[in-house]
Amino acid sequence: MDGFRIGFGYDAHRFTEGRPLIIGGIRIPHDLGLMGHSDADVLTHAIIDALLGALSMGDIGSHFPDDDPAYRGVESTLLLDKVMQWVRTDGYRVGNIDATIVAEEPRLAPHVEAMKKRLSGILGTEEARISIKATTNERMGFCGRGEGMAAYAVVCLTEA
Ligand code: MG
Repeated sequence: MDGFRIGFGYDAHRFTEGRPLIIGGIRIPHDLGLMGHSDADVLTHAIIDALLGALSMGDIGSHFPDDDPAYRGVESTLLLDKVMQWVRTDGYRVGNIDATIVAEEPRLAPHVEAMKKRLSGILGTEEARISIKATTNERMGFCGRGEGMAAYAVVCLTEA
């Protein structure tokens, strides 16, 4: 048992037609959604990988395989809730989270407060300890060309 543990997570998903855009557990109005086995919530996936990283417990794919029918179309917030059970079992709580979403479109800033509210309930921590930032990629790379979105997250777990 350590006083604190730090974890880092990264994820990316490709845009596709005919799917809802779910980011941070919030449905965002947009004409494209993200492709994936689950709901493809790129921010929640990055946070899950950061939590698993802090616990030295592998990555999201090792626990929730994308060829397992059980996770087809699953809400990523349910997976996050499961991972938070493991965090608590190991004697930790979320100290703080800092995340950045990279997307050329749509504008995500208007939805950040709703994401924080939704995730804080699952993470068991107040919204003031959750930072979610959104940036464009200045039209460079796959995010800049609008092919998809990426998210990065750093988490600090502290002794519960
Ligand atoms: Mg993912």
